[in-house]
Amino acid sequence: MSRKIRPWLFYDTTASVCASCRRQVEAKIVIKGDQVFLEKWCPAHGFERTLICDDAEYYRLCREVYVKHPEMPRQFNTQMVHGCPYDCGLCPDHMQHSCLSIIEITDNCNLTCPVCFAESAPHLRHRPLPDVIAMLDAVVANEGEADVVQISGGEPTLHPDFFAILDAAKRRPIRHLMVNTNGLKIATDPDFADKLAQYAPGLEIYLQFDSLRDDTLKLIRGATLADSHQRVLDRLESRSISTTLVMTVISGINDDQIGEVIQHATKWRCVRGVTLQPVSAVGRLTLEHPTERLTVSAIRRMVADQSRIFTKEDVVPVPCNPDTLAMAYALKHNDAIIPLTRHLGSEALLAGPRNTIVFERDPALKEQVFKLFATNHSPQSQAACLAELLCCLPAVAAPDLGYENVFRVLIVQLMDIHNLDLRALKKSCIHFALPDGRLIPFESYNLFYRGRLFAQTRKIQAEIAKHTQDRAKTGSETVSSSDLVQTDSLHITN
Ligand code: SF4
Ligand code: SF4
Ligand SMILES: [Zn+2]
Repeated sequence: MSRKIRPWLFYDTTASVCASCRRQVEAKIVIKGDQVFLEKWCPAHGFERTLICDDAEYYRLCREVYVKHPEMPRQFNTQMVHGCPYDCGLCPDHMQHSCLSIIEITDNCNLTCPVCFAESAPHLRHRPLPDVIAMLDAVVANEGEADVVQISGGEPTLHPDFFAILDAAKRRPIRHLMVNTNGLKIATDPDFADKLAQYAPGLEIYLQFDSLRDDTLKLIRGATLADSHQRVLDRLESRSISTTLVMTVISGINDDQIGEVIQHATKWRCVRGVTLQPVSAVGRLTLEHPTERLTVSAIRRMVADQSRIFTKEDVVPVPCNPDTLAMAYALKHNDAIIPLTRHLGSEALLAGPRNTIVFERDPALKEQVFKLFATNHSPQSQAACLAELLCCLPAVAAPDLGYENVFRVLIVQLMDIHNLDLRALKKSCIHFALPDGRLIPFESYNLFYRGRLFAQTRKIQAEIAKHTQDRAKTGSETVSSSDLVQTDSLHITN
């Protein structure tokens, strides 16, 4: 009689947390056909299975090819005491520095979006200026020269000290500054837009932009914003302020509009690209049904099917955190969009010493790009920094080929309590800065440290501390070597 065979491939084990009690549990990664699942089991709350990728080949590419040496911050901010994810951060077990640091300056917002992970709303508090300064200093202390700092919220433009905060950021060694906004303030106040323009270049607007259609926007944001979007883009365009459109993608609501938004983005000189963020069960939102879950691989396919610019092969995993980030980039030249990633290949993307791949310091990449443009440009004319092209970065300054020639599509998956893989979390390069000097990985902050969620984390920390103490007390009662031999031989004979 032939043995029964499990209908899936057991790919790996990892760690996650139970979605009910948030305690760490072991997890398996299994592949069934094209689908990759994270399976976990909690002694108290049982079994859970979540789809983490719907393209097994792409998943293996992320895990087996796009892997780089982790880059460290200058210092760590916490110690390893309770284990991941209860020691954030950054603790010495974290495997990536902060490519993008988020400074949340307010909880206040002029919208109350059903998808808000920060659960922001009108009349909530602004963070005091000294706290914000301490957060900026925390980033600089960890990074030396920070790659990208994003001023966020809530709605940051509502902060009474907004421009004082931009000034404080500008005084610090930060290569690229972003403002994450819903755009309402820019749409309603032309003077505000003028004042923003004084900070460009070196300032980018990360503009919420989920759709061109009011009926869709009403569902996602609870407001009709299409006119506002148009006005904001007009104002940013006329003032030459770099902009990225940020689309939260929800299955069955706007996932058929990805191509439309990308096409729209290419029509604006000021727009440098589109960031696509599949929605996750964080903050106000729950995903009731498994089919609501969108993976990076699904969005990658949609970009290829809908954009009329990129193929699937153009959208590659970002080496510093391939599980959650993918990108494609193109050059914009005289209305033409030329996809570029396909020409580089994994060797060039992985060859450089830095995860945020800085062009001048990355000979392999430089050579590749020079080859591509050898017909039009001499290497001397391309003292460009392509850092942003390949990670979370911007800042190209070249006489002939500049940042305005760059068009990038970035897919950013923010893991939630269901698909959280602690192996991937340890590689997170998007971190929240806190006034006390900690830098906490994005997902970890939203799942374990933000507001009322920290109560459960504190409880788990106390349990682990007690357990550790108890174990230390009974430390002398360790297993004897003869026990080990016995166990081992039992295992062998079976
Ligand atoms: S997520 Fe990173 S910083 Fe936080 S506990 Fe885990 S390894 Fe440490
Ligand atoms: S998602 Fe952005 S715009 Fe919407 S409530 Fe939250 S902070 Fe405000
Ligand atoms: Zn549990």
